[in-house]
Amino acid sequence: MRRFIIVGVACVLALASLSVVPSAQQSNALTAAATALGAANIKSLQYTGSGANFSVGQNFTPNDPWPRVTVKSYTASINYDTGSMRLELLREMGTTMPRGGGAPFTGEQRQIQVVSGTYAWNVPVAPPAPAGGAPAAGGGGRGGAPPPAPAPAAAVERMLAMWATPQGFVKAAMTNNATERKAGGGTEVSFTVGGKYKMTGTINAQNQVERVRTWIDQPIVGDMLVETVYSGYKDFGGVMFPSRIAQTQDGYPSLDLTIASVTANPAVDIAVPDNVRAFQPPPVRVESQKMADGVYYLTGGTHHSLAVEMKDHIVLVDTPNDETRALAVIAKTKEVIPSKPIRYLVTSHHHWDHLGGIRAAIDEGATIVTHQTNKAFIERAAKTVHTLNPDRLSTSKKAVKIQTVGEVGKLTDGTRTIELYNITGYEHTADMMMIYLPKEKILAEADAFSPPATPTTSVVVSAVPYAAALYDNIQRRKLDVQTITPFHGGRTTDVAEVARNAGKSATTAQ
Ligand SMILES: [Zn+2]
Repeated sequence: MRRFIIVGVACVLALASLSVVPSAQQSNALTAAATALGAANIKSLQYTGSGANFSVGQNFTPNDPWPRVTVKSYTASINYDTGSMRLELLREMGTTMPRGGGAPFTGEQRQIQVVSGTYAWNVPVAPPAPAGGAPAAGGGGRGGAPPPAPAPAAAVERMLAMWATPQGFVKAAMTNNATERKAGGGTEVSFTVGGKYKMTGTINAQNQVERVRTWIDQPIVGDMLVETVYSGYKDFGGVMFPSRIAQTQDGYPSLDLTIASVTANPAVDIAVPDNVRAFQPPPVRVESQKMADGVYYLTGGTHHSLAVEMKDHIVLVDTPNDETRALAVIAKTKEVIPSKPIRYLVTSHHHWDHLGGIRAAIDEGATIVTHQTNKAFIERAAKTVHTLNPDRLSTSKKAVKIQTVGEVGKLTDGTRTIELYNITGYEHTADMMMIYLPKEKILAEADAFSPPATPTTSVVVSAVPYAAALYDNIQRRKLDVQTITPFHGGRTTDVAEVARNAGKSATTAQ
């Protein structure tokens, strides 16, 4: 990356010094933007602001916006010459979590996200912010602090975010043979970075980068549009920069910042930590635990599944994360329940982490059993375009089969019955299903209660609100549950432990 950028800067200088640009049509708008934004002279940039970011893929229903989290401060430190960026966020949760999902936290949360070339990592931050001075850029991993956490899945998004900044966009366009065409009142500039990632931006009549569109791979929605709009350009101490940055992902707001300050050419030294450079993602692992005859709890990763053997087919609950995980879960299911087809895939709910392997289930030929509020979204997921990371369904193009469920649903073959109950009064998601096997007294649930490593033995004072919703719904439906197989956490649990975490000393159900 470094070499390309140096060439790019030279290119900007060369073009700026010519009164007549040779391939005028190809570079007029870019040259003007480079001059207006001072791109040639800006090798590194820091900007600060505040606003909000949003939990993408975690909406209350597929038709709701992403849940919003306040960002009290946001600092981006970019070194364009080395292709590195460090983001530091101080997020704040209000007294109540926003409706929908997203990693829960209370009070303030500091995050440090870094990218350099093709490497991405997060710097662990101790909960209370240090009183004197922030750690050095790209720091962490020294003096006994926990090592940086490799985040390879975030590398492309962060790399594109860096080149989507106004000055970054102009630099990247000039080094990647951008094409230009007139569009609206401005010029549309398009090029490809990193070999396959398309970037398209609009340069307006004031020679400002007004809008940048990039696409990243997402297992469900495919080539997902990330669109960033820059407005209110002003002179921040010699640098023209937008005073507002508004980004959407898959059509809903994902970042909204009001910029407070911009610094040109600060020292931004970001070195890839050794453990990040050496990191190899562990192989996908699926473990099965037999809960009853023909009932298997499939664990081994961050998100679990449940496989249930019926007379002449299999019902699988959740193909989470992505296609790789889903294919491993499907393979393990066929190993523990041989010679039967997976005829139904039940979704616990539509959040992207649990639904990530849905296209693998569709390709497998399973009918998707889901809450009625998800029908349109699953239909869309079955047809999304996946050019960045083609999956099996992009080739097979199998038609999706959907069976919707409202408040309650049932799958039975006369001998085994699987009951489905929508969890009501649940702010995490509207469509959450509890999956109940009445004969085996087993209940599967996602996100409502994820048991801690050490079992909870006394009533928890600050109750987990989602545990209360789960407990109330089990009581309301009068379900006789002996074992709960949660889709997160390292072990099974029971209603009594859910009750304790709901702040109730209640008796167990029936
Ligand atoms: Zn969820």
